[in-house]
Amino acid sequence: MCGIIGLTSKANVSLAVLSTGLKQLEYRGYDSCGIAYVDDNQLNIRKSLGKIIELEKQLPMTVTNCAIAHTRWATHGMPSLANAHPHHHGMVTLVHNGIIENSSKLKEELGNEQLYGQTDSEIICAYLDMLYARCHDHLQALWHLEQMIKGSYALAVIFGDALDGIYCVRKDNPLILGVAEDSIYLASDVSAFIEHTDQVVYLEQGEIALLHEDQLSIYDKNLQLSDYVIERSLVNKEDVRCQGFKTFMLKEIYEQPTVIARMLDMFCPDDLQQLKDNLLDISKYDQIVIVGCGSAYHAGLVGQILIENNLEIPVRTYLASEFRYANINLRSDTLAIFISQSGETADTLAALRKCKIMNIDTLAIVNVIGSSLYNEAKYPLLTLANKEISVATTKAYSAQVLMLMLLIIRSGLMDDPTLHQKLLALPKVITNFISSLDLQPLVAELKDKEHAYFIGRQIDHAICLEAALKLKEISYIHCEAYAAGELKHGSIALINENSVVFANIDEQVVADKTLSNLAEVAARKAKVFCISSLEDVAADIKIPRVKALLQPLVTITFYQLLAHEVALIRGCNVDQPRNLAKSVTVE
Ligand code: GLU
Repeated sequence: MCGIIGLTSKANVSLAVLSTGLKQLEYRGYDSCGIAYVDDNQLNIRKSLGKIIELEKQLPMTVTNCAIAHTRWATHGMPSLANAHPHHHGMVTLVHNGIIENSSKLKEELGNEQLYGQTDSEIICAYLDMLYARCHDHLQALWHLEQMIKGSYALAVIFGDALDGIYCVRKDNPLILGVAEDSIYLASDVSAFIEHTDQVVYLEQGEIALLHEDQLSIYDKNLQLSDYVIERSLVNKEDVRCQGFKTFMLKEIYEQPTVIARMLDMFCPDDLQQLKDNLLDISKYDQIVIVGCGSAYHAGLVGQILIENNLEIPVRTYLASEFRYANINLRSDTLAIFISQSGETADTLAALRKCKIMNIDTLAIVNVIGSSLYNEAKYPLLTLANKEISVATTKAYSAQVLMLMLLIIRSGLMDDPTLHQKLLALPKVITNFISSLDLQPLVAELKDKEHAYFIGRQIDHAICLEAALKLKEISYIHCEAYAAGELKHGSIALINENSVVFANIDEQVVADKTLSNLAEVAARKAKVFCISSLEDVAADIKIPRVKALLQPLVTITFYQLLAHEVALIRGCNVDQPRNLAKSVTVE
């Protein structure tokens, strides 16, 4: 959560560079924002409630060569000017991403120090000031702070007696450094500075970075200068531009065929046997657990059913936030798969660490190279969705589902003679489908509704869960997904003439059963829609039929587009839905 950007420079840089960069990070949080910048050897702080555009209104037309800025997703203390970052106490000004779990204890140690707000971030700001007053050494003070604080953090700090430098540390939250010709950047995400450089350095946990003019120094945990590697970022400028689409979400929905083609080109360009070189054979495990949050969890549920259907290995999918605290002892013949777009999802990372303690094999499916999950899993797998800006995921979810499908194919279906062609045909099928869909009748039906239900069985249920999440998170219509057979056990009591019910029917074996359930809600006056790829099912929306294993990748695009159109017509901020942030790096 929250986005950080900062820079030091040999040249004078417009404050607009920071506010524009900050806008790229708004997907991480946007309840308040602020900037600390050095101008004429003075440190100035400006803060604002709401979005970056509000902050921009009060920024002077000036330049700087040292600045840190922040867009907040509040964890401790409501959104207010006092709680907005940067925080300032004595000699220390800082921005923070994360949660300090022992902040109350640290506050007690501060004694009479007057705090102006309620954030954990302000407490560590005052605490660092106290440590610095004792040792008068920037590196030592930061090192001590890291020994004292518990939780997760990415910090960028300016000391009052060295206004031309920024110190950075991180634990379990991302912070990436960018090396440009005249400047050094820092940010939670490369997209914030990609317009200026694609040369990046990934700061490791335990290291301290010092940015000064165009120089970057990295200190190891013994505070000795250490070498670092400059890499070319995989994010490119096009990824962070809307390119004529109404929203980033729409752009990303339309990018899905390209993402699929890119992944196939990477993992099996000529034939399925090539998967052997790139992917783990998961059939050697006797059981599999899949762990994720939100849409990644839903991708896991799709994977669960597909693995069970095709490889006959028992699978259980867990919500990461539950898994990490569950009393689970997994056998050594288990494979644990972790799914996360950012590779930094706090609960998923904790779940992975729990599995490593149990000594079982871990495989991570992530979209960010060098992320914590990518670095810590035994078998890291990179989805090639590229940068996803919209908070509601679309292409990253599809990339996760495709990766699970490729793992299944590699582990048991490589000899299927037609499968490679069917995979290669997918991008075209999806492109044709989404560009020909007419959603207006459905949008008209949904736009003023307060409740929508999605029912399905087996893989259809997994799709329904994602469909309901997509619609609720961006349109604020209350949506629920139910296993169709469960309706009668309680939820059907909610159905009346104001209800809209979607049945998803791609599973042939349960098609008749779900159709009966749809008839039951129609009999209770719900407005019903049947969405199906099956030839013998009379559907309101016909989804193009592909091989059963691959069907979810086509079907989900319908629900993504539907959610997008409904949210737009309801006047919602599609790319930045209220209260949400994209990369959930706090528990
Ligand atoms: N815990 C800090 C706050 O509430 C930072 C939250 C964040 O990472 O967005 O201000």
